[in-house]
Amino acid sequence: MNLTICPWKYGKRWVYSVTYDEALEELHRFAIPHHEELGIPGHVEAVAGHLGAVRQLGQSSYNGFHHMGPSGLQDLIARGWGVGNHSWSHELIGPDDVGRELGDAKKTLEDAIQAPVCLYCAPGNNYNMADHILEAARSFGYLGAMSITDALNRPTEELFWLNRTALHVEYYEPFFSEYDPFRNIRYAQERSGWIIDYCHCPLKEAVHPHKDCTEAQLRLRFDTVLGEGGDEVWCANPDEVIQYHRTRRACSIDPLPTPDGSEEEAYRLRLAELPDGRMCTDLTFDITTRAAWCAEPLVCIDDVEQVPSLVRPRTLRCTAPVRDGTVVRVGPRRRNTGGKAQ
Ligand SMILES: [Zn+2]
Repeated sequence: MNLTICPWKYGKRWVYSVTYDEALEELHRFAIPHHEELGIPGHVEAVAGHLGAVRQLGQSSYNGFHHMGPSGLQDLIARGWGVGNHSWSHELIGPDDVGRELGDAKKTLEDAIQAPVCLYCAPGNNYNMADHILEAARSFGYLGAMSITDALNRPTEELFWLNRTALHVEYYEPFFSEYDPFRNIRYAQERSGWIIDYCHCPLKEAVHPHKDCTEAQLRLRFDTVLGEGGDEVWCANPDEVIQYHRTRRACSIDPLPTPDGSEEEAYRLRLAELPDGRMCTDLTFDITTRAAWCAEPLVCIDDVEQVPSLVRPRTLRCTAPVRDGTVVRVGPRRRNTGGKAQ
């Protein structure tokens, strides 16, 4: 097979995403300006039953902060961010609650942002990643569920249980820790992993050292990701990443016979699951072909001519949307020579 799908979009080696639980308006004070300056999209985890409300939840450190409403969330969507469902109530979700906490909440958020919500994010702790909840998440059409387990996400795994790295000043006892801006980066580079950071609303000083980092620590993390990652890191909205991952896992490639008199190579793609029409189905392909074709290659995906890049000798790369039945053709470009065969 000379056509392969890259683990991550654009052929990037590893992926970095960052999530902010509770979708607070106060993100505009110290977090969003850094995202805007550096061009890194973020992702907020919204509590569907609290849209536009002043937070008042038990003993929460964030009581008095403001949960974004529809216009605040739409503003983030316009900046390239994504919105996840952080449940309806932020309470422990029992088997009888999944309809409201995952189903109604998804619908409410989608109405608010006029875009699909494809990630569920467990509120509180991993008790809200219980089997009955993940089963409901699948049936309501989520593509993944985010936990608070600090681990890397690997492209070879299913990734319905997504791990997140807490970007906090320090962890809870008994595992005391010091803030580490390099956390999981070397591992991500080595294993082609996907880091999803999580915090709430970084301020000059963290509201609570076990729940957040400071603005300076957030900036240090971004600078470290960009410095270590260079051109090899894909800084992405996690919705885009999970959509890529799902499309890649659903896609299989069948070689097609070469037509008589032609040298070109062709392939048909099959998608085992048809994605929601609102989701991105882009895939990045590496095409190993003849060295002679790499100078002026003709790569067509569904008859649309691509502009591939040469990533190493004999290997071309391009990114394009796919569907079930997509045809990829690869060959040398034939120049118009005024009727003379070349
Ligand atoms: Zn929360």
